[in-house]
Order: sequence, then C-alpha cells, then structure tokens
Amino acid sequence: MKKIFVVLLAMLMLVNMFALTACDGDDHTHSYGSWSVTSNATCTTDGSRSKSCSCGDIITETIPATGHNMVGGVCTDCGATE
Ligand SMILES: [Zn+2]
Ligand SMILES: [Zn+2]
Repeated sequence: MKKIFVVLLAMLMLVNMFALTACDGDDHTHSYGSWSVTSNATCTTDGSRSKSCSCGDIITETIPATGHNMVGGVCTDCGATE
C-alpha cells in the first residue's frame, strides 16, 4: 500500500511541475520544433500544420488550399475538369 502512495505522490509532483512550467510565461522563451503537417492541403481544402514547444504550447497554422493546377483543362493534382 505504501508503495502505491509514493508513486501517486511522485505523479502529483510531476503534474505540478508541468503546470508550473506552463505558467512560467515571462522567463520562458518558446522553442518550437519543426512544423509537422496534421492534414495536407488539397486543391480545394485547406490543410493544417502545427509545431510544439517542450512546455506543451502548440502553434497551429492553416495551409491554404493549393488551387487546381489546370493543364489542358484537367487538374494535374486531383483530376478535376472544371
Ligand atoms: Zn514554451
Ligand atoms: Zn485539383
């Protein structure tokens, strides 16, 4: 039983540490990794990408729809003929 209590206490402290880090907005300079695409943009639909800091902060950005790439009346990307 005592072991479980110690583990719980350790987890609680960890959570507190994360909470403190997240609130530490003044001193902390966000260091975001590279963008990772969460959904690809298509000809007609916007995509999105995000990158995150070690503190848990996440930036999400919209990738604008690429638009059709019409060649000879047909889109080379999706095959649309509009
Ligand atoms: Zn940060
Ligand atoms: Zn297209």
